[in-house]
Amino acid sequence: MRADLHVHSSASDGTDPPAEVMRRAAQAGLDVVALTDHDTVAGHAEARAAAGRLTLLPGMELSCRLDGRSLHMLAYLFDPDQPDLAAELARIRDDRVIRARAMVDRLAGLGVAVTWEQVAEIAGSAVVGRPHIARAMAAGGAIASPREAFTRDWIADGGRAYVGRYALDPVRAIDLVSAARGITVLAHPRAGRDTYVSDEQIARLAAVGLAGVEVHHPDQSDTERGRLLALVHDLALVATGGSDDHGSLTGHRLGAETTTADAYEALVSRARPGGSIP
Ligand SMILES: [Zn+2]
Ligand SMILES: [Zn+2]
Repeated sequence: MRADLHVHSSASDGTDPPAEVMRRAAQAGLDVVALTDHDTVAGHAEARAAAGRLTLLPGMELSCRLDGRSLHMLAYLFDPDQPDLAAELARIRDDRVIRARAMVDRLAGLGVAVTWEQVAEIAGSAVVGRPHIARAMAAGGAIASPREAFTRDWIADGGRAYVGRYALDPVRAIDLVSAARGITVLAHPRAGRDTYVSDEQIARLAAVGLAGVEVHHPDQSDTERGRLLALVHDLALVATGGSDDHGSLTGHRLGAETTTADAYEALVSRARPGGSIP
């Protein structure tokens, strides 16, 4: 069984619509795909309709902040209509618009020919994010390709036109998702300098209900994976894997990292004790 538990679509900052993501997932030989768009479940209905023989694990990736550092939390199998969770998601999405507008203003101040209207048109109905701004910058000729926007010159964390945003405390994220009958997995804790989550921090999250840690991720080294596997074992958490595919933005890589069948079953049984795999 092949399960990729971290995938984005155009419902957030991926380049492919949810149905196309599912088509590519089948082509990649996957059995289970978790659609984990940033702070939204808007892609689920389209993905489910296009799932065919694939199992869709409904999910999302929540933007959090811990001790001043950005941290991403994957959530699965929650009820998105649970009132507290729904309100928090709306707040995060509203803030994304305020923040994207502020970054566009800063870019304009730096002489970049980019407008909010262009960014909004590129984002369409998706949750707006930096990749949409990057695409507008490339379309306007300020940079050769969207990837070039993610430097300190432009909109990388701490960059000249970067604007921080509202983010959830991860303990609150775990509580909200638990209250909505879902489970949480810490995403790529060792993917880079800006997202480093320490052993102690992971242990604290485990103590308040974290279900798993994403060990297998394209941006995590073999050394870090080994350390995380040992930690996950000590804390009795589930080790997951996912490609974090964003379509052409990351290079199409669905299925490049996967979760083992045992880990998948353990994860689902934590959300639905005694229940069947969806
Ligand atoms: Zn992430
Ligand atoms: Zn992601």
